Amino acid sequence: MKKDTKIIHAGRDKKWTGQAVSPPVYHASTILFDTVADLKEGLRTFKQKRMFYGRRGTPTHFAFRDAMTQLEGGHDCLVYPSGIAAVSAALLSFLSSGDHLLMVDTCYGPTRALCNKVLKRMGIETSYYNPMVGSDIGDLIKDNTKAIFCESPGSLTMEIQDIPAISKVAKEKDIVVMLDNTYGNLMNFNPFDHGVDISIQSATKYIVGHSDAMLGTVSATETLWPRLQDNSYFMGQTAAPDDIYLAMRGLKTLSQRIKHHEQSALKVAEWLKDQDVVEKVLHPAFSDCPGHEIWKRDFNGSNGLFSFTLKEKEGSDTAITALLDHFKLFKMGYSWGGFESLVMSFYDLKRERDLNLWDDYGPLVRLHVGLEDVDDLIADLDYGLAHYKKAL
Ligand SMILES: *Cc1c(COP(=O)(O)O)cnc(C)c1O
Repeated sequence: MKKDTKIIHAGRDKKWTGQAVSPPVYHASTILFDTVADLKEGLRTFKQKRMFYGRRGTPTHFAFRDAMTQLEGGHDCLVYPSGIAAVSAALLSFLSSGDHLLMVDTCYGPTRALCNKVLKRMGIETSYYNPMVGSDIGDLIKDNTKAIFCESPGSLTMEIQDIPAISKVAKEKDIVVMLDNTYGNLMNFNPFDHGVDISIQSATKYIVGHSDAMLGTVSATETLWPRLQDNSYFMGQTAAPDDIYLAMRGLKTLSQRIKHHEQSALKVAEWLKDQDVVEKVLHPAFSDCPGHEIWKRDFNGSNGLFSFTLKEKEGSDTAITALLDHFKLFKMGYSWGGFESLVMSFYDLKRERDLNLWDDYGPLVRLHVGLEDVDDLIADLDYGLAHYKKAL
């Protein structure tokens, strides 16, 4: 079955939903056992999807976890209160004091902060690697390297990583390969077909899809699942059924939304490429994007997220302010993956990264192209850029 079909039916199991099409919101902390025999059965099977204690989940959780596994692959999936909670649960489940972590230099900013502040304090060393490293990752592996963390495309700058090459090297040395698969979103990338052991998503983005709830997921291979499940439970990680209900609802339209985001973003990106003030459009579907050939080989498409850089490097803050302040549809806000268009800028990529891969480029603007009419969006960009030029 095609994913467009699978997504419609994913997670629907009478055990969780009864006769309803979608899982009801099932609130519970205390679960009651009718007899000692029931209790004993619970004590034997509480790690399976069954009602035992609220933190272990309710049918709302189980339906969403099933849906995620059916669509993303892996053995099973857990839910967390946010994407970064999912990142921290994955890292803390598999790293201990004295271990070394290889983290891609183009990771999401708060992931870097987690490594540099929390993991460091716990005696876990992080080194940052070039997203284009491929199988040369082998040269960076130390005796105590326990995990390689990938994010593809890279945050803001959109480099595509050769995940199969990295995981091939990692497998030989028994190193866990983790991927922040938020961009991949279930439709654009299948992590477990490319050698990933642990796939992490900020479901806050495309899965919830409506900018009204926060949620994270971690999916694992069968081998790594017990450790992830136990550690997450010990750390008290769970998510609210109301938020999971919103994620399950968002999930049902994910494939259709992604197609629309993809088509509109491609049209906007092509238009931007022709604008004289634009230096470079950073979009994985463009042949000059680092790793474009890998994207063609491994990905099933793109979505609404991409960036561009501006030619003018010096004193351009005023002009970028004029640009952002004049948009009517591209609203300023962190995050992405909702139905609405968003814009953000003023990133300091020289300060926020360890390797100097980004010295040559002008200021970066990131767009999330929403579900508005694409010609209206282009008109909005045209209007903003006119004000940008005036302020230069
Ligand atoms: C937003 C985001 C996160 C964090 O997710 P939250 O739900 O906001 O905590 C992690 N990784 C990537 C790539 C993101 O875009």
